[in-house]
Amino acid sequence: MVRAFFPGSFDPIHYGHINIAKRASRLFDELIVAVYDRPLKNMLFLPEERLAMVRHVFENEPKIRVIGYRGLTVDACRHNEAQVIVRGLRVFSDFEYEFRMALANRRLGPDIEMIALITAEEHTFLSSTTVREVASLGGDISSMVPNYVANALRRRFKELGEGQTLVPESSLRD
Ligand code: ADP
Repeated sequence: MVRAFFPGSFDPIHYGHINIAKRASRLFDELIVAVYDRPLKNMLFLPEERLAMVRHVFENEPKIRVIGYRGLTVDACRHNEAQVIVRGLRVFSDFEYEFRMALANRRLGPDIEMIALITAEEHTFLSSTTVREVASLGGDISSMVPNYVANALRRRFKELGEGQTLVPESSLRD
């Protein structure tokens, strides 16, 4: 039995993530989608809100289990008996970051393999930052995120105040 672990911030989850998770779930016996609860960047949604959205998205996927985690990814893998880390790759800048992360993770957990799936062409441009930015400006995000997530974004930006365009700080590669 091979169990894979797909970690991410998912702030919020979008169709690029969903595509990677569904494809990975076909390759392994079980896929754990793991929502990291303390990334080193400002988040729009709380860990429990991100977790609830991811859970909702995959509720009808029997091979996908959703959990929250904190601390080192390799420790969470061991704890959940996952042998493989799955990541998604969009552009060259992703590669550099993922390459560094993969080597660091290998040093910390040589028993855990990392595989990266190349994004589907139609999701190449898609990132949580883009989704947040378009949503904050009232743009149409229906092709980027499921309805449930779009509604959560609308509510959040309404709470934050009409016309506000401030999007939490993020890196270019996000
Ligand atoms: P993190 O903060 O850990 O990078 P993200 O939620 O931004 O978390 O991304 C989780 C994973 O999904 C990363 O491997 C990222 O490269 C991948 N990913 C993000 N957007 C896309 C996309 N449009 N297509 C494929 N993979 C993606």
